[in-house]
Amino acid sequence: MTTRDRLRMHLVQALTRSDSPDVREHIQAALCEWENLPPTPLVECPVCGRVGLPERIVCHDCDAE
Ligand SMILES: [Zn+2]
Repeated sequence: MTTRDRLRMHLVQALTRSDSPDVREHIQAALCEWENLPPTPLVECPVCGRVGLPERIVCHDCDAE
């Protein structure tokens, strides 16, 4: 799950758990902004050259380690 996915999940859960119309309005607006986010850019591992999502590259099993 990417950072974007987690962000959206938290917003959706906040939306479903709020009884306040004011709060729901702000969360709806936040979800609309989320839709406008640019796609997560891919990064390249400086060691092995593998390309992927930033969190995947940070965590991956690098052959050169
Ligand atoms: Zn690597």
